[in-house]
Amino acid sequence: MTVEPRTAHVDRARELDEEDPLASFRAAFLPDPDVRAYFDGNSLGRPLTATPDRLAGLVHTWSSRLIRGWDEEWMALPETVGDRIGALTLGAAAGQTVVADSTTVVLYKLIRAAVAARPGRDEIVIDDDNFPTDRFVVERIAAEFGLTVRWVRVDRHAGVELEQVTEAVGKRTALVVVSHVAYRSSHLADAEAITAAAHEAGALVLWDLCHSVGSVPVELDRWGVDLAVGCTYKYLNGGPGSPAFAYVRADLQDELEQPIAGWMGSAAPFDMGPHYEPARGIRRFLSGTPSIVAMQPMRDMLDLIEQAGMAAIREKSVRLTEFVIEIADADLADAGFTVATSRDAARRGSHVTLEHPDARAITARAWERGVIPDFRAPHGIRVGLSPLSTSFAEVADGLSVLRECAAG
Ligand SMILES: *Cc1c(COP(=O)(O)O)cnc(C)c1O
Repeated sequence: MTVEPRTAHVDRARELDEEDPLASFRAAFLPDPDVRAYFDGNSLGRPLTATPDRLAGLVHTWSSRLIRGWDEEWMALPETVGDRIGALTLGAAAGQTVVADSTTVVLYKLIRAAVAARPGRDEIVIDDDNFPTDRFVVERIAAEFGLTVRWVRVDRHAGVELEQVTEAVGKRTALVVVSHVAYRSSHLADAEAITAAAHEAGALVLWDLCHSVGSVPVELDRWGVDLAVGCTYKYLNGGPGSPAFAYVRADLQDELEQPIAGWMGSAAPFDMGPHYEPARGIRRFLSGTPSIVAMQPMRDMLDLIEQAGMAAIREKSVRLTEFVIEIADADLADAGFTVATSRDAARRGSHVTLEHPDARAITARAWERGVIPDFRAPHGIRVGLSPLSTSFAEVADGLSVLRECAAG
């Protein structure tokens, strides 16, 4: 049985799509006949229509240029793509962003480098609802080096607040690790103020931008951020397993020593020298051969972001999340859903988390019907909105299916 989505929201969605200055960007993504509403672009962005040709182009260069491809293009790619990510999405001047390994490995390298750069300070501050990998890496490094983890206890429906960080930092703090947008609640942290509070205490700060890069404007240089990492397979649509980027503030780079000394991050990789000498600048944060294959699809997404502009992307993101909350209040509350994300747009990223006692089963039923949010234990259903690929009609339709799925 198919129940049509509630007419009022369908009409409203049509209006919002007609008014949407970014509506035409939807045609840049590969559709799939079995996907009715995609609400998981915050975990894995959709492929672009340009992606097959982009990957075929890489195979062509590989087959025709063979090893010469490294000199001709690939050696520079971690920095050229990094600079583009920096310029378009991070507010970062050139020479501070490099595409490297997985987020987890980049976190390890930067956190190790940061605590080593603050000798005499023996604490790392991180919140207890940060993404698992961030917490695990911090705990392991603390155990390895006899440091203390100072946990900031956060409300799982919210996130890290400035006052909590101000209270937690002090003379012993080497590093503060925070996610800009909380993966669970979508809480958007006040990055500028929290960075200033960490600096006030003499600590370094690392921002995890996995859930903000490409959806929320970021101003790393202006905020004076020391270190940042972020995924490229979420809102940068790099595809499954595309590598993460590292941002290291220019004046810190030559002072930091990252722990995975590899030839690709050394001063002269092809000298094949007897000892490791780190490259100058951002390149020293590379370790081994970077994944050129997995750096291809994100390049076309960066072109789209350049055309659309981060300000317009954020504006649409806010409209989309507002629309989800509007429908949830009007239509989903009596089916048992509650909104577990801030109602203040200034404190919200690009997903809305709904809670329902039956969230796991509802998500499974919705997937069978081509509506794809994700489930986060124990009761969360995350509705991710990718500003360039999600329409308002998709939101109205997908949420009506969630309502039906709650009825069994
Ligand atoms: C998605 C995500 C990660 C993922 O780490 P990988 O090493 O890429 O698997 C890490 N941190 C945060 C905050 C994330 O949202």
